[in-house]
Amino acid sequence: MADFLHELVGSISQGASGNPTVAMIEAAFAHHGLHWRYINMEVIPEDLGAAVRGAKAMGFRGFNCSLPHKVTVIPHLDGLGESAAVMGAVNCVVRRGNKLIGENTDGKGFLKSLQTAIDPRGKSVVLFGAGGAARAIAVELGLAGTKRITIVNRSEARGSELVGLLRDKLKLDAELVVWNGDFSVPASTDVVINGTSIGLYAPEARLALDLDSLKPGMITADVVFSPVRTRFLDDSAARRCTAIDGLGMLVNQGIVGVQFWTGINPDAAVMRAALEKAMGV
Ligand code: NDP
Repeated sequence: MADFLHELVGSISQGASGNPTVAMIEAAFAHHGLHWRYINMEVIPEDLGAAVRGAKAMGFRGFNCSLPHKVTVIPHLDGLGESAAVMGAVNCVVRRGNKLIGENTDGKGFLKSLQTAIDPRGKSVVLFGAGGAARAIAVELGLAGTKRITIVNRSEARGSELVGLLRDKLKLDAELVVWNGDFSVPASTDVVINGTSIGLYAPEARLALDLDSLKPGMITADVVFSPVRTRFLDDSAARRCTAIDGLGMLVNQGIVGVQFWTGINPDAAVMRAALEKAMGV
Protein backbone atom coordinates (compact mmCIF):
# COMPACT_ATOMS: atom_id res chain seq x y z
CA MET A 1 0.00 0.00 0.00
CA ALA A 2 1.20 3.49 -0.75
CA ASP A 3 2.22 5.41 2.36
CA PHE A 4 1.15 9.00 1.82
CA LEU A 5 2.69 11.74 3.93
CA HIS A 6 0.00 14.10 2.69
CA GLU A 7 -3.53 14.01 1.43
CA LEU A 8 -3.33 14.88 -2.25
CA VAL A 9 -5.51 16.98 -4.49
CA GLY A 10 -4.42 18.48 -7.74
CA SER A 11 -5.10 20.06 -11.04
CA ILE A 12 -5.16 18.21 -14.34
CA SER A 13 -4.51 20.77 -17.01
CA GLN A 14 -2.64 21.39 -20.23
CA GLY A 15 -0.30 24.35 -20.64
CA ALA A 16 -1.13 25.89 -17.27
CA SER A 17 2.15 25.77 -15.37
CA GLY A 18 2.58 28.41 -12.69
CA ASN A 19 -1.17 28.32 -12.03
CA PRO A 20 -1.88 30.89 -9.24
CA THR A 21 -4.62 28.56 -7.99
CA VAL A 22 -1.86 26.36 -6.53
CA ALA A 23 -0.69 29.21 -4.27
CA MET A 24 -4.26 30.03 -3.24
CA ILE A 25 -5.25 26.45 -2.33
CA GLU A 26 -1.99 25.66 -0.56
CA ALA A 27 -2.30 28.89 1.45
CA ALA A 28 -5.66 27.61 2.73
CA PHE A 29 -4.14 24.23 3.66
CA ALA A 30 -1.25 25.91 5.50
CA HIS A 31 -3.51 28.40 7.29
CA HIS A 32 -5.79 25.65 8.58
CA GLY A 33 -2.93 23.32 9.54
CA LEU A 34 -3.91 20.67 6.98
CA HIS A 35 -1.09 18.41 5.78
CA TRP A 36 -2.45 18.42 2.26
CA ARG A 37 -0.76 19.23 -1.04
CA TYR A 38 -2.24 20.61 -4.27
CA ILE A 39 -0.09 19.86 -7.28
CA ASN A 40 -0.43 20.88 -10.89
CA MET A 41 -0.03 18.15 -13.53
CA GLU A 42 0.15 18.62 -17.27
CA VAL A 43 -1.86 15.91 -19.02
CA ILE A 44 -2.32 15.61 -22.77
CA PRO A 45 -5.82 14.62 -23.98
CA GLU A 46 -4.76 11.06 -24.97
CA ASP A 47 -3.57 10.39 -21.41
CA LEU A 48 -6.63 11.75 -19.59
CA GLY A 49 -8.22 8.37 -18.78
CA ALA A 50 -4.92 6.97 -17.48
CA ALA A 51 -4.36 10.12 -15.39
CA VAL A 52 -7.81 9.86 -13.76
CA ARG A 53 -7.33 6.15 -13.04
CA GLY A 54 -3.91 6.97 -11.62
CA ALA A 55 -5.29 9.69 -9.36
CA LYS A 56 -7.92 7.25 -8.08
CA ALA A 57 -5.41 4.44 -7.58
CA MET A 58 -3.02 6.73 -5.71
CA GLY A 59 -5.73 7.90 -3.30
CA PHE A 60 -6.09 11.51 -4.52
CA ARG A 61 -8.96 13.21 -2.67
CA GLY A 62 -9.86 15.07 -5.85
CA PHE A 63 -8.59 17.42 -8.52
CA ASN A 64 -9.53 20.36 -10.65
CA CYS A 65 -9.51 20.05 -14.39
CA SER A 66 -9.31 22.85 -16.90
CA LEU A 67 -9.59 23.12 -20.69
CA PRO A 68 -9.40 20.98 -22.77
CA HIS A 69 -10.48 18.34 -20.24
CA LYS A 70 -13.74 19.75 -18.80
CA VAL A 71 -16.09 17.67 -20.97
CA THR A 72 -13.90 14.71 -21.97
CA VAL A 73 -13.19 13.85 -18.30
CA ILE A 74 -16.87 12.90 -17.75
CA PRO A 75 -16.77 9.32 -19.13
CA HIS A 76 -13.84 8.57 -16.79
CA LEU A 77 -15.80 9.53 -13.63
CA ASP A 78 -18.27 7.56 -11.48
CA GLY A 79 -20.98 10.22 -11.35
CA LEU A 80 -21.85 13.92 -11.57
CA GLY A 81 -23.17 16.59 -9.19
CA GLU A 82 -26.42 18.38 -10.10
CA SER A 83 -25.08 21.48 -11.88
CA ALA A 84 -22.26 19.59 -13.64
CA ALA A 85 -24.88 17.17 -15.01
CA VAL A 86 -27.03 20.03 -16.31
CA MET A 87 -24.17 21.91 -17.97
CA GLY A 88 -22.27 18.84 -19.13
CA ALA A 89 -18.91 20.16 -17.91
CA VAL A 90 -16.72 19.35 -14.90
CA ASN A 91 -13.94 21.47 -13.44
CA CYS A 92 -13.65 19.87 -10.01
CA VAL A 93 -13.56 16.18 -9.11
CA VAL A 94 -14.26 15.00 -5.56
CA ARG A 95 -13.65 11.55 -4.06
CA ARG A 96 -16.76 10.42 -2.18
CA GLY A 97 -16.18 6.96 -0.71
CA ASN A 98 -14.48 5.09 -3.54
CA LYS A 99 -16.22 7.12 -6.24
CA LEU A 100 -14.87 10.09 -8.19
CA ILE A 101 -17.73 12.59 -8.65
CA GLY A 102 -17.56 15.49 -11.11
CA GLU A 103 -18.69 18.92 -9.92
CA ASN A 104 -18.56 22.36 -11.46
CA THR A 105 -17.33 25.17 -9.24
CA ASP A 106 -17.22 27.90 -11.95
CA GLY A 107 -20.84 28.89 -11.46
CA LYS A 108 -20.85 28.10 -7.73
CA GLY A 109 -17.88 30.45 -7.23
CA PHE A 110 -19.66 33.18 -9.16
CA LEU A 111 -22.86 32.69 -7.17
CA LYS A 112 -21.04 32.89 -3.82
CA SER A 113 -19.36 36.09 -4.94
CA LEU A 114 -22.67 37.57 -6.19
CA GLN A 115 -24.42 36.64 -2.94
CA THR A 116 -22.17 39.09 -1.06
CA ALA A 117 -24.29 41.78 -2.78
CA ILE A 118 -27.66 40.22 -3.65
CA ASP A 119 -29.73 37.02 -3.40
CA PRO A 120 -30.52 36.13 -7.03
CA ARG A 121 -33.77 34.30 -6.10
CA GLY A 122 -36.65 35.91 -7.99
CA LYS A 123 -34.37 38.42 -9.75
CA SER A 124 -33.95 39.40 -13.41
CA VAL A 125 -30.50 38.99 -14.92
CA VAL A 126 -28.84 40.15 -18.14
CA LEU A 127 -25.87 37.92 -19.00
CA PHE A 128 -23.45 38.79 -21.80
CA GLY A 129 -21.89 35.65 -23.31
CA ALA A 130 -22.78 32.00 -23.86
CA GLY A 131 -19.38 30.29 -23.57
CA GLY A 132 -18.19 27.99 -20.77
CA ALA A 133 -18.19 30.61 -18.00
CA ALA A 134 -21.56 32.10 -18.97
CA ARG A 135 -23.09 28.63 -19.23
CA ALA A 136 -21.89 27.69 -15.74
CA ILE A 137 -23.18 30.98 -14.30
CA ALA A 138 -26.58 30.73 -16.01
CA VAL A 139 -27.14 27.16 -14.80
CA GLU A 140 -26.17 27.99 -11.22
CA LEU A 141 -28.37 31.12 -11.25
CA GLY A 142 -31.23 28.99 -12.53
CA LEU A 143 -30.73 26.41 -9.77
CA ALA A 144 -30.66 29.29 -7.24
CA GLY A 145 -34.12 30.47 -8.28
CA THR A 146 -33.37 33.39 -10.60
CA LYS A 147 -36.66 34.45 -12.21
CA ARG A 148 -35.54 35.57 -15.65
CA ILE A 149 -32.30 35.44 -17.65
CA THR A 150 -31.62 37.36 -20.85
CA ILE A 151 -28.60 35.95 -22.69
CA VAL A 152 -26.93 38.53 -24.92
CA ASN A 153 -24.49 36.83 -27.28
CA ARG A 154 -22.72 37.59 -30.56
CA SER A 155 -23.08 34.08 -31.99
CA GLU A 156 -26.73 33.15 -32.34
CA ALA A 157 -26.02 29.40 -32.45
CA ARG A 158 -24.16 29.39 -29.13
CA GLY A 159 -26.71 31.73 -27.54
CA SER A 160 -29.73 29.64 -28.55
CA GLU A 161 -28.08 26.45 -27.38
CA LEU A 162 -27.70 27.95 -23.90
CA VAL A 163 -31.22 29.39 -23.85
CA GLY A 164 -32.58 25.98 -24.96
CA LEU A 165 -30.71 24.26 -22.12
CA LEU A 166 -32.04 26.75 -19.53
CA ARG A 167 -35.60 26.34 -20.76
CA ASP A 168 -35.55 22.55 -21.22
CA LYS A 169 -33.54 21.41 -18.23
CA LEU A 170 -34.34 24.14 -15.67
CA LYS A 171 -37.75 25.36 -16.95
CA LEU A 172 -36.36 28.88 -16.74
CA ASP A 173 -37.81 32.04 -18.28
CA ALA A 174 -34.84 32.61 -20.63
CA GLU A 175 -34.53 34.60 -23.85
CA LEU A 176 -31.76 35.32 -26.34
CA VAL A 177 -30.83 38.70 -27.74
CA VAL A 178 -28.30 38.47 -30.56
CA TRP A 179 -25.65 41.07 -29.72
CA ASN A 180 -25.44 43.59 -32.46
CA GLY A 181 -24.51 47.14 -31.46
CA ASP A 182 -24.95 48.71 -28.01
CA PHE A 183 -27.34 46.68 -25.86
CA SER A 184 -29.79 48.65 -23.73
CA VAL A 185 -30.38 47.05 -20.32
CA PRO A 186 -34.13 46.85 -19.45
CA ALA A 187 -35.00 49.01 -16.41
CA SER A 188 -36.44 45.96 -14.60
CA THR A 189 -32.99 44.27 -14.52
CA ASP A 190 -31.43 43.57 -11.11
CA VAL A 191 -28.06 42.09 -12.17
CA VAL A 192 -25.88 42.66 -15.27
CA ILE A 193 -23.01 40.23 -15.86
CA ASN A 194 -20.13 40.24 -18.32
CA GLY A 195 -19.62 36.51 -18.93
CA THR A 196 -17.49 37.07 -22.06
CA SER A 197 -13.72 37.33 -22.37
CA ILE A 198 -14.02 40.99 -23.44
CA GLY A 199 -11.64 43.00 -21.26
CA LEU A 200 -9.28 40.12 -20.43
CA TYR A 201 -5.76 41.62 -20.39
CA ALA A 202 -7.34 44.58 -22.23
CA PRO A 203 -8.19 47.40 -19.79
CA GLU A 204 -9.49 49.65 -22.58
CA ALA A 205 -11.80 47.04 -24.15
CA ARG A 206 -15.40 48.22 -24.15
CA LEU A 207 -18.52 46.09 -23.74
CA ALA A 208 -21.08 47.16 -26.36
CA LEU A 209 -23.63 48.42 -23.86
CA ASP A 210 -25.64 51.64 -23.51
CA LEU A 211 -24.21 52.90 -20.20
CA ASP A 212 -27.17 55.25 -19.71
CA SER A 213 -29.40 52.19 -19.35
CA LEU A 214 -27.51 51.16 -16.18
CA LYS A 215 -29.45 52.45 -13.16
CA PRO A 216 -28.16 53.18 -9.63
CA GLY A 217 -28.59 50.14 -7.40
CA MET A 218 -28.18 47.57 -10.18
CA ILE A 219 -25.53 44.94 -9.45
CA THR A 220 -22.84 44.52 -12.10
CA ALA A 221 -20.36 41.64 -12.17
CA ASP A 222 -17.47 40.63 -14.39
CA VAL A 223 -15.93 37.20 -14.96
CA VAL A 224 -12.73 38.83 -16.18
CA PHE A 225 -10.17 38.87 -13.34
CA SER A 226 -7.20 40.54 -15.06
CA PRO A 227 -7.36 43.48 -14.80
CA VAL A 228 -9.28 43.17 -11.55
CA ARG A 229 -11.13 46.43 -12.21
CA THR A 230 -12.34 46.21 -15.79
CA ARG A 231 -13.66 49.13 -17.79
CA PHE A 232 -17.18 47.67 -17.45
CA LEU A 233 -16.89 47.64 -13.64
CA ASP A 234 -15.47 51.18 -13.50
CA ASP A 235 -18.12 52.55 -15.88
CA SER A 236 -20.95 50.87 -13.99
CA ALA A 237 -19.61 51.95 -10.57
CA ALA A 238 -19.53 55.52 -11.91
CA ARG A 239 -23.28 55.09 -12.49
CA ARG A 240 -23.72 54.01 -8.86
CA CYS A 241 -24.07 50.31 -9.57
CA THR A 242 -22.53 47.84 -7.10
CA ALA A 243 -19.62 46.33 -9.06
CA ILE A 244 -18.29 42.83 -8.28
CA ASP A 245 -14.94 41.75 -9.71
CA GLY A 246 -13.95 38.42 -11.30
CA LEU A 247 -11.28 37.74 -8.69
CA GLY A 248 -14.10 37.10 -6.20
CA MET A 249 -15.41 34.36 -8.50
CA LEU A 250 -11.96 32.80 -8.75
CA VAL A 251 -11.39 32.88 -4.98
CA ASN A 252 -14.84 31.45 -4.29
CA GLN A 253 -14.26 28.61 -6.76
CA GLY A 254 -11.18 27.75 -4.72
CA ILE A 255 -13.20 27.95 -1.50
CA VAL A 256 -15.90 25.62 -2.86
CA GLY A 257 -13.20 23.17 -4.02
CA VAL A 258 -11.49 23.13 -0.61
CA GLN A 259 -14.90 22.67 1.07
CA PHE A 260 -15.68 19.74 -1.24
CA TRP A 261 -12.32 18.04 -0.72
CA THR A 262 -11.64 18.65 2.98
CA GLY A 263 -15.02 19.48 4.54
CA ILE A 264 -13.64 22.65 6.20
CA ASN A 265 -14.71 26.25 5.57
CA PRO A 266 -11.47 27.93 4.51
CA ASP A 267 -10.60 31.55 5.29
CA ALA A 268 -11.54 33.63 2.23
CA ALA A 269 -9.24 36.57 3.10
CA VAL A 270 -6.20 34.28 3.33
CA MET A 271 -7.01 32.71 -0.05
CA ARG A 272 -7.65 36.03 -1.79
CA ALA A 273 -4.40 37.50 -0.42
CA ALA A 274 -2.42 34.46 -1.68
CA LEU A 275 -4.07 34.66 -5.10
CA GLU A 276 -3.42 38.40 -5.42
CA LYS A 277 0.23 37.88 -4.44
CA ALA A 278 0.65 35.04 -6.97
CA MET A 279 -0.97 37.14 -9.69
CA GLY A 280 1.03 40.24 -8.76
CA VAL A 281 -2.06 42.44 -8.27
P1 NDP B 1 -15.41 30.89 -24.16
O1 NDP B 1 -14.42 30.98 -25.26
O2 NDP B 1 -16.10 29.60 -23.89
O3 NDP B 1 -16.57 31.99 -24.43
C1 NDP B 1 -16.24 33.32 -24.76
C2 NDP B 1 -17.51 34.16 -24.79
O4 NDP B 1 -17.13 35.53 -25.04
C3 NDP B 1 -18.48 33.78 -25.91
O5 NDP B 1 -19.80 34.05 -25.50
C4 NDP B 1 -18.06 34.75 -27.03
O6 NDP B 1 -19.09 35.02 -27.95
C5 NDP B 1 -17.76 35.99 -26.22
N1 NDP B 1 -16.85 36.92 -26.90
C6 NDP B 1 -15.50 36.85 -26.98
N2 NDP B 1 -15.01 37.89 -27.68
C7 NDP B 1 -16.08 38.63 -28.07
C8 NDP B 1 -16.22 39.84 -28.80
N3 NDP B 1 -15.17 40.49 -29.28
N4 NDP B 1 -17.47 40.34 -28.99
C9 NDP B 1 -18.56 39.69 -28.48
N5 NDP B 1 -18.48 38.53 -27.78
C10 NDP B 1 -17.26 38.02 -27.57
O7 NDP B 1 -14.65 31.41 -22.87
P2 NDP B 1 -15.02 31.13 -21.32
O8 NDP B 1 -16.48 31.25 -21.18
O9 NDP B 1 -14.35 29.89 -20.87
O10 NDP B 1 -14.28 32.35 -20.61
C11 NDP B 1 -14.81 33.67 -20.70
C12 NDP B 1 -14.06 34.55 -19.71
O11 NDP B 1 -14.34 34.12 -18.38
C13 NDP B 1 -12.52 34.51 -19.87
O12 NDP B 1 -12.05 35.84 -19.78
C14 NDP B 1 -12.07 33.72 -18.65
O13 NDP B 1 -10.79 34.14 -18.20
C15 NDP B 1 -13.13 34.12 -17.64
N6 NDP B 1 -13.29 33.16 -16.56
C16 NDP B 1 -13.20 33.63 -15.29
C17 NDP B 1 -13.35 32.80 -14.23
C18 NDP B 1 -13.25 33.37 -12.85
O14 NDP B 1 -13.17 32.59 -11.89
N7 NDP B 1 -13.26 34.68 -12.68
C19 NDP B 1 -13.62 31.35 -14.40
C20 NDP B 1 -13.75 30.94 -15.78
C21 NDP B 1 -13.57 31.83 -16.82
P3 NDP B 1 -19.36 34.05 -29.22
O15 NDP B 1 -20.17 32.90 -28.69
O16 NDP B 1 -20.13 34.94 -30.13
O17 NDP B 1 -18.02 33.65 -29.76
